[in-house]
Amino acid sequence: MTNFLKKYRFLMLRRLSQIGILVLYFSANAYGFKVLTGTLSSSLLFGVIPLSDPFAVMQMFAAGAILGADVLVGALIVLLFYASIGGRAFCSWVCPINMITDLANWLRRVLLLDKTEKKVWLGRSVRYKVIVLALILSAFTSVAAFEIVSPISMLHRGIVFGMGMGGAAVLSIFLFDLFAVKNGWCGHICPLGGFYSVASRLSIIRVKHNQPNCTLCMKCKDVCPEKHILSLIGKESGDVTSGECTNCGRCIEVCDDDALSFGIRNYINKNG
Ligand code: SF4
Ligand code: SF4
Repeated sequence: MTNFLKKYRFLMLRRLSQIGILVLYFSANAYGFKVLTGTLSSSLLFGVIPLSDPFAVMQMFAAGAILGADVLVGALIVLLFYASIGGRAFCSWVCPINMITDLANWLRRVLLLDKTEKKVWLGRSVRYKVIVLALILSAFTSVAAFEIVSPISMLHRGIVFGMGMGGAAVLSIFLFDLFAVKNGWCGHICPLGGFYSVASRLSIIRVKHNQPNCTLCMKCKDVCPEKHILSLIGKESGDVTSGECTNCGRCIEVCDDDALSFGIRNYINKNG
């Protein structure tokens, strides 16, 4: 039991966080329990603190919308939190789509689909091009372009308000990640994940590698949704500095050798 808790501690906490946030939104809509009201794009915490999706706000700005002070303050609060502290934690601790893509990733491993994977035809930089495309389209169409088609918003609205195309969007992403490209949506396409990757490049909380403990089993790389960022494994001690790390903690959980842990970033010496 202790081993189980140790092996899945971050996974359980992340699910608690992701489901808990959905429950709070749902309770506000269904029962008037107003801890967290609104949507992932724009919310109010305790009826007072505004929280807005900074990427959605950027698109609205590009679309020419006149934004209220509360929306701008809300975007600033969220941006500052992830940029300075949490890193790309939105993806693994908040976003509901992550539960779907984690499931597809796990199934790929169980069905040994990774073993037969030959060549990934979709580059990881596509997500950054989608960011630019979303902003250009927003400017031309005068609407926040990605927000219209975002599966994250669709799933969130589907769960909280019980409507929309959430089911179809989720199924498409699940099948795409399962059969087409490993971590296809979150690791290659999603512009919101790309946005937080760029925004959180300098954040404080980092995965740390203690090289002398490493036995080169590579279990961390097997489970990491962005395994290219673990290039220091087995080579040197230091911080995982890439903004593409979602701070999911899976690499830490699967490491039996205590070679990985969460810690405070060493800004002076990048190799910790
Ligand atoms: S990459 Fe996008 S869909 Fe995936 S977890 Fe992050 S925000 Fe959600
Ligand atoms: S390096 Fe670790 S914490 Fe970061 S994304 Fe990969 S598995 Fe998650």
